[in-house]
Amino acid sequence: MRGTVFVSGGSGYIAGFLIRQLVAEGWMVHTSIRNLAKESHVRSLLGVDNVKLKFFAADLMSDAGWAEAMAECSHVAHVASPLPSTAPKSADELIIPARDGALRALRAARNAGVKRFVMTSSAAAIAYGHGKGSRRFTEADWTNVTSPDAYPYVQSKTIAERAARDWMAAEGGDMDYVSVNPSLVLGPLLSDDFSTSLEAIKKLLEGSLPGLPNFGFGVVDVRDVADLHVRCLTAPNMAGERFIASGPFLWMKEVAAILRDGLGEQARKVPTRGLPDFLVKLSALFDPVIKQVVGELGNVRDMDASHAKAVLGWETRPVAESILDTARDMIRLGLVKV
Ligand code: NAP
Repeated sequence: MRGTVFVSGGSGYIAGFLIRQLVAEGWMVHTSIRNLAKESHVRSLLGVDNVKLKFFAADLMSDAGWAEAMAECSHVAHVASPLPSTAPKSADELIIPARDGALRALRAARNAGVKRFVMTSSAAAIAYGHGKGSRRFTEADWTNVTSPDAYPYVQSKTIAERAARDWMAAEGGDMDYVSVNPSLVLGPLLSDDFSTSLEAIKKLLEGSLPGLPNFGFGVVDVRDVADLHVRCLTAPNMAGERFIASGPFLWMKEVAAILRDGLGEQARKVPTRGLPDFLVKLSALFDPVIKQVVGELGNVRDMDASHAKAVLGWETRPVAESILDTARDMIRLGLVKV
């Protein structure tokens, strides 16, 4: 028995794989969901030993439930944060739950005597608002939230991580704080209710894009992200650490080629031609989601994960495996007609 760990947001994609790994490695896990009516559904998706997993109700927007959820926990992985598939009406819809929820989790953890607090931040807190072009980013970089390219989700993750680190410096006491900063997370699905990060693969498979926009992103597998969280929870000397979790940077056209090579006929709707930037900019006038990311056209945001590899011995699986596992699960679950 390794001890008891609290994982916030047990209904989420990354949290699900993290809970599975923690239980498999002998931890007792406490997790939070907003409404306990969902408990039996989430339990059935996770498929772990029921005795090793306890559910608590806690919302990022309310103080209720956090103290109970963390009682007797020595470790915390704070994963919950809003990741919507649509553009919010105002940035505060994301910033307030991300920042205030992290502070609620931190306060409850310190008060419960937690030793190590691992927070799921994001590449969004590192690589945005640095202008156009190609760059390789490390943990020393921070997103510039005042840049017009820092859209609300990017702002929410940056502001939440900064607030968490400031709070730790002022009030954290003996608790260690570590952040994990993943790039775009892909891999097998937990259910047909999938994370927003998998949306690009769905759009490619179902042929709903008229061509391949000149967008790219670092890609990382959900199983490797879970594994990095576990390493951060258990390795010595982690106080203040920050770890990028990313595999290679891929253009959409490279993702499309991996789908075609791996799926053959099932990838017949995946576009082959590029979509000129002017058409993407035109659609941004009408589509609020594209409008958020149009500043990313042509940018290379290469995330350097060598720190996690050197310090924690972390390794990533081949990126094609993550992309094809996403696609095969989407087909298997009937989420796309190919
Ligand atoms: P997800 O499946 O959408 O999970 C998000 C979780 O946050 C869900 O459990 C959700 O609960 C919970 N949540 C949202 N608002 C909440 C609120 N007000 N109160 C309580 N819980 C709330 O997304 P994910 O991909 O697993 O993301 C998990 C974390 O990783 C987030 O912090 C995200 O920013 C970060 N991250 C994700 C990616 C990626 O590509 N997926 C990349 C970098 C970082 P409900 O089920 O009730 O909505």
